[in-house]
Amino acid sequence: DLHMLTTQPSRNQVSAVAGNVREIVLDYLSVGIEPERSTIFVQSAVPETYELNLLFEMLVSVPRLERVPSLKEMARDASLEVMPFGLLGYPVLQAADILMYKANGVPVGEDQAPHVELTREIARRFNHTYGDVFPEPDTLLTAETSKLLGIDRRKMSKSYGNAIFLSDSPDAVSTKVSRMITDPQRARRSDPGNPDVCNVFDFHKLYTDADAVKTIEEQCRAAGIGCVECKQKMARGLVSALEPIREKRAYYEERPEMVEEIMVEGSNRARKTACETMEVVRAAIKI
Ligand code: SF4
Repeated sequence: DLHMLTTQPSRNQVSAVAGNVREIVLDYLSVGIEPERSTIFVQSAVPETYELNLLFEMLVSVPRLERVPSLKEMARDASLEVMPFGLLGYPVLQAADILMYKANGVPVGEDQAPHVELTREIARRFNHTYGDVFPEPDTLLTAETSKLLGIDRRKMSKSYGNAIFLSDSPDAVSTKVSRMITDPQRARRSDPGNPDVCNVFDFHKLYTDADAVKTIEEQCRAAGIGCVECKQKMARGLVSALEPIREKRAYYEERPEMVEEIMVEGSNRARKTACETMEVVRAAIKI
């Protein structure tokens, strides 16, 4: 929720945060993240994050942050005319989130990989300056599909209106898939397609069985399958993959007190670790 403030600090935007936090926790739980094994917590419930963020700000230069490619894009998407100081520090705050818990690996999409790289640099700089405290975390990308685009081939985002949600009904999923942009060069059914540049094909790799994916690839290249049929096949796989997720989500949606408890317990657990880390950090800096 603190990161959200970097681009959406108005009163209205902030008032939507609590609801959005709950939606994200519901997503986590519905895809099978187990709160007993994986601590789910609210960032602002760990105020030590601010302190570590400030200390890290001294270890990175403005030109280095200006080279992080996603920040300009974020400012543009939020219609900001000038870069706020806080947004420039977005990846530094992420570094505080990651290193506070001494993470060894960070699962991210491709666009966030440069942020993990910056986290590694900050960890190195801190260790070099004050002594060995932090591990250098690895970037954990999904091997085949580290990036899934929205239905219009832009970055998938709620604010672009191009996202397929875990909570979408089968009909909503099928409608969205039918609107997906495919290989832009394939104008007619008789034109051979190129699955390497097709958004739908990236989804097939995740939601269709491997043999069928191979067949679709061959058929696409030989104009043996039309995009409408290809999309319908993908939608069927996607809908059935989302079915158990949707059921689990509904279970937690009906039990808001359970979700609340998971967030409170997780935040307490995270804070305990954060307090321990900050004691080590302060001792290392001698501050
Ligand atoms: Fe994409 Fe399938 Fe059309 Fe090929 S046939 S361009 S993989 S939607």
